[in-house]
Amino acid sequence: MTREPVLTFTERGIYCPAGDFYIDPWRPVDRALITHGHADHARDGMGRYLATHAAGPVMRHRLGDIALETVAYGEVRRIGDASVSFHPAGHVPGSAQIRVEVGGEVWVASGDYKTTPDGLSEAFEPVRCHAFITESTFGLPVFKWKPQDEVVAEINEWWRTNREAGRTSFIGAYSLGKAQRVLASLDASIGPILTHGAVENTNAVMRAQGITLPDTVRVTPDLDAKAHAGAMVIAPPSALGSNWSRRFGAASTGFASGWMALRGIRRRRSGDRGFVMSDHADWDELNRAIAETGAERIFVTHGYTAIFARWLNEQGYDAAVVETEYEGESLDAEAEAEPSEANVSAEDEGKVDPNEAVATKPASKSKSPKKNKNTSGDAGE
Ligand SMILES: [Zn+2]
Ligand SMILES: [Zn+2]
Repeated sequence: MTREPVLTFTERGIYCPAGDFYIDPWRPVDRALITHGHADHARDGMGRYLATHAAGPVMRHRLGDIALETVAYGEVRRIGDASVSFHPAGHVPGSAQIRVEVGGEVWVASGDYKTTPDGLSEAFEPVRCHAFITESTFGLPVFKWKPQDEVVAEINEWWRTNREAGRTSFIGAYSLGKAQRVLASLDASIGPILTHGAVENTNAVMRAQGITLPDTVRVTPDLDAKAHAGAMVIAPPSALGSNWSRRFGAASTGFASGWMALRGIRRRRSGDRGFVMSDHADWDELNRAIAETGAERIFVTHGYTAIFARWLNEQGYDAAVVETEYEGESLDAEAEAEPSEANVSAEDEGKVDPNEAVATKPASKSKSPKKNKNTSGDAGE
């Protein structure tokens, strides 16, 4: 008799028949286990939610009054015939991989993850399993992140130079995760740090849960922008280049994203500087993380899925692409709409050489996730 799989892929989301629950569902369901608070993973309309203690405050902030229960990392819950536990994914504060065990068989749904510590998120923890569900947002060898220290030094140096020239520095970073990571890495002795409301609201939620962040000044309509020449301003990418940012006068604009590793995307942005900083795993991290699970079966959910699954098959895994509505790292809504074709050059028959794949941003198959009422300018991450 063949047993039912521990997790199945349905039109509502990743489903566990033994426990009758979904992981990061994109349609309303009764019971949802949530890996993290980004809008493509934590959506409204679920009957009940389960997430980590650390993810709870941001989820409430974004989704309002939801029926949310939270658990500690590593705490085992019995749901039906399944045992579930949450383990750090290193993606943003509170993010988790969800481990599901049924009859001795273990599957892990990792949501979004990165394995390099960022100083803010709980450090990624490898979880042994039989089947591993992975993203592949940056699943091509061209994506290789520099050590965070180097990127941080670049950002601070850029800010210092701008300040000496009397220019305001704008940095575009999505409001949950990246913005706080940039903020925490700034050298506050250079000058004042200002934040867009969407960023500051998330900062407030995180400070209230005990996460230490440098002091910031919220940009309000009556703020005298000219009095803050030389400041660093952190805002969602969508706010840059708008009236909101123009009031600051002379300015330089930078973006912090893994996509900044691609010259084409860097050039298409109106910004002056690109800083390669991502909350997703690079090529080496993906490969190492997958190897460390010990899993034989791999399901690839979003990003360069086809080419990455093919690569894994050639490494001896039993890998497959599954259709989901998760999104990789977004620059902003406009970038999401770019009709770029992903990695077509390696799609012909024969061996996959990911090095020869055309590194453009994969076209997003899903519709933009519904904006939640408290967010601005950062839909899927
Ligand atoms: Zn995410
Ligand atoms: Zn995501």
